[in-house]
Amino acid sequence: MNEENKRRDFLKQISGLGVLAIAAGAGIYYAPKLKSSKLILRPPAAVKEDEFLKLCIKCGQCLQVCPYDSIRLEGVEGGASLGMAYIDPTKRGCYLCEAFPCVLACPSGALEHEHDNIKFVHMGMAVVINEDACIAKHNKKVTDSMIDRIYDHTKVLSSSEKQKHKVRITSSDSEKSKLQKQLLQKLDKFRGKDCSICADLCPLPDNPQNAIGMIKKDGGLVPEIREACVGCGACVELCPTNVLKIVPRASFSDLYKGKRDV
Ligand code: SF4
Ligand code: SF4
Ligand code: SF4
Repeated sequence: MNEENKRRDFLKQISGLGVLAIAAGAGIYYAPKLKSSKLILRPPAAVKEDEFLKLCIKCGQCLQVCPYDSIRLEGVEGGASLGMAYIDPTKRGCYLCEAFPCVLACPSGALEHEHDNIKFVHMGMAVVINEDACIAKHNKKVTDSMIDRIYDHTKVLSSSEKQKHKVRITSSDSEKSKLQKQLLQKLDKFRGKDCSICADLCPLPDNPQNAIGMIKKDGGLVPEIREACVGCGACVELCPTNVLKIVPRASFSDLYKGKRDV
């Protein structure tokens, strides 16, 4: 299958999700070998999925250094990829650390060291799957329980902090605790306010509005996914009402030969 056909094939598969134009702009497409298997969101700078399956040695080094506890190892349902590194954005997205410690820690080449830079990262793409569930569209406020849910995603809080659902950063906190608490403090600002969490907390450096923004629709606002989205999944984790999902990409190399500026 030539490059154009592969791309068209991918677009056909995700067009039902209403992201055809964006996907076309971003140049993502679907590796033909993976048509029958489910796509899995891999950590940043992962090599092509078929190569990843050969190279990941299930050592867990990447997840040990991840300050956000974003990386997991596949369980028995992973079949042949049992024990390999992946990200479940509904439980914890990737927050695109500047130095990409996960990539540097990988000893096998499953995460490519040469690609430890945001300009090479393209894990997939966010898509809007349930716009009507967006509370901003209906001008509803963010409730405490919507924010408190994310407190339960972190492993760095003391039991009293978890109970109070209030964090304070102290000088004795580890760097990892500080980072996760900073995220919770940013989220706390939305309690009782209008929701634009997905757009405001997108961790894409420099110009996150090139990845996601809020646009007017039906008297409210809804998220719009844009070309620079790298599929980190932070917006999926943080959205209170499951408006978004990530379509993981299958082929890093194919992608960066395309649209992205490397
Ligand atoms: S970039 Fe940071 S948050 Fe994302 S998986 Fe790697 S270490 Fe974790
Ligand atoms: S819109 Fe931002 S937060 Fe959401 S997946 Fe894309 S880059 Fe990540
Ligand atoms: S996080 Fe974004 S998509 Fe989710 S409810 Fe808030 S504004 Fe809507």
